Amino acid sequence: MQQDEVWQAVLGEIEVTLSHGNFVTWFKNTRLVKRRDGVIVVGVTNPFIKQTLEKKYGDLIIKTLRKQGIEVDQVEYKTVSAPKLSDEQIAASTSPATDQVPQLITPTPGVVKFAADRSAGGLRQSLNERYTLDNFVVGDGNDLAFAACQAVVAQPGTKYNPLYLYGGVGIGKTHLIQAVGNALQHRHPDAKVLYIATEQFVREFVQALRDRTASKFADYYRSADVLIVDDVQFLAGKDKIQEEFFHTFNSLHQANKQIIMSSDKPPSAIAMLPDRLKSRFGGGMSIDMQVPDFETRCAIIQTKTEGHESELEPEVVEYLASHIQTNIRELEGALNQLLAWCEVRGLVPTTAIAANVLQVSKNRPKNLSAKQIIERTARHFQIPLEDIIGPKRDKDIVVPRQIAMYILHEELHLSYPKIAYELGRKDHTTAMHSVRKITQELQTDVSLRGAVTEIKEHLYV
Ligand code: ADP
Ligand code: MG
Repeated sequence: MQQDEVWQAVLGEIEVTLSHGNFVTWFKNTRLVKRRDGVIVVGVTNPFIKQTLEKKYGDLIIKTLRKQGIEVDQVEYKTVSAPKLSDEQIAASTSPATDQVPQLITPTPGVVKFAADRSAGGLRQSLNERYTLDNFVVGDGNDLAFAACQAVVAQPGTKYNPLYLYGGVGIGKTHLIQAVGNALQHRHPDAKVLYIATEQFVREFVQALRDRTASKFADYYRSADVLIVDDVQFLAGKDKIQEEFFHTFNSLHQANKQIIMSSDKPPSAIAMLPDRLKSRFGGGMSIDMQVPDFETRCAIIQTKTEGHESELEPEVVEYLASHIQTNIRELEGALNQLLAWCEVRGLVPTTAIAANVLQVSKNRPKNLSAKQIIERTARHFQIPLEDIIGPKRDKDIVVPRQIAMYILHEELHLSYPKIAYELGRKDHTTAMHSVRKITQELQTDVSLRGAVTEIKEHLYV
C-alpha cells in the first residue's frame, strides 16, 4: 500500500471510533510523512495537535496501525505546514501569516475613546469573575476544550482563531469561554476583552438601528482585542444581524484579534446560517465538548462544596454524580439545594436527603411561570403582589423584588431585560445588579439562603 492509502485506512478506522468533532479537530489534517524500520512519522499542522495526539491518542494510533498490518514500534509527530486551503477558505481568510507574534492590544487606543468604551461596557454584559480556568475541573469530556482554551490564552489571535466550542446544555461552555476572557484580561490589563451573549448582541443591534446608532454599535465591537460571543446558534435566521456580525468577524479576524464562540452545535449544523458564516466559524479550531464523565462530575461537586459549611461524604457525592449525568448546571443546582436544605435544618447531608431533594426537583412542574415565582416570593415576605411589581422603593419591598429577580434568573434562565420586564422595571441593568447582589450575599447570609430555599421548595411541591 502507498503511504497515503495506509493512512487513509487508519483514519477511516479512527473516524468511526471517535465523535465527529474530535475526529475533525485532531485527525482531519494529519498525514503520514515517513515510514521506515518500524518508525512512523505523522505530520500535523500545529504543536497543539501534536501534543494531543501524543498524549491522548498515541495508543489508539499504534493499535489502529497494527490492525492495518503495519509493523510499528514507534510513532513520531512532526509539525508540518498546513494542507493547501480551498478557494473558499482563502477567500474567507485574508489574514497575514499565522506565525506572527500575537498583538493583542490595538497599538494606539485613544485614551478618551477607551474610557468611553469602558463606560459603555459598564452597561453591557461583562465577564463574570466567578469563571476561571483554575476552578474549571478538567476531565474526560472537556479536556480538549480546556487545552484549546489554554493555548488561546498563551497565544491569542494566532492559531486557534476563531475558537469555537460546541456541545449540550450546562456542560461548561460559558464557563470556559468566560474563563479565557478573564485570563486574557488578567494577562493584558489594557486589552479590550468583550463578552456578549448572542441574544444580547441581537437586542443591542436592534436598539442601535432604532436609535440610528448602528455605526457606533459596529465600532464598539470592531474595536475589541478579544471578542467572546456566547450561543451563536441564536444568529440563525436573523439576516441583518448576520450581515453585521459577518463584517465584525472579518474585521477582527483580519487584524488577528482573537474570536471565541460557543454554540449548541457545530457550525455546519446551524440551520438558517449562511455558508459564509459557517465556513468562518469552522475556519479555526472547533471542539466538540462532551458531558464530563462520572469521576469528573464527582470532582466538580467537590470543588463546588468548597466554601460551604457542610462537607459531603463520598457516597453523597457519588449519589449526585450518578443521578445527574448530562447537565452540570442541574448538578450544581441539586447540590446547592441539598446544602441549603441541610444548612437551614442543621442536618448533615446524606444520600437519603439527596434522594429526597432530587425527587423534589424531578417533580418540578415543567411550565413554571415567572408569575408563579413572583407571587410565591411576595407571599413569602407577606407583601402584596402589586408592591413587588410596583414603583415602591422601601427596603422591605426592594429586597424581595431582588430575590424574585434572582430566582427568575436561576430557575427560568430568563434574560435580564425579560426579568426586568416581569417585575415592572424598565432598565435591565437593575435586574443584572439585583441578581449579582443576591448571588453574592447568598454566599455569606444564611437567613437569605434559607428564604430562597423555602421559596423554591414551595414552587416545586
Ligand atoms: P453551558 O454554557 O455549556 O450551558 P455553563 O458554562 O453555564 O454551561 O455551565 C453550567 C454550570 O456548570 C456553571 O456554573 C459552571 O461553572 C459549571 N461547570 C460546568 N462544567 C464545569 C467544570 N468542568 N468545572 C467546574 N464547573 C463546571
Ligand atoms: Mg452557556
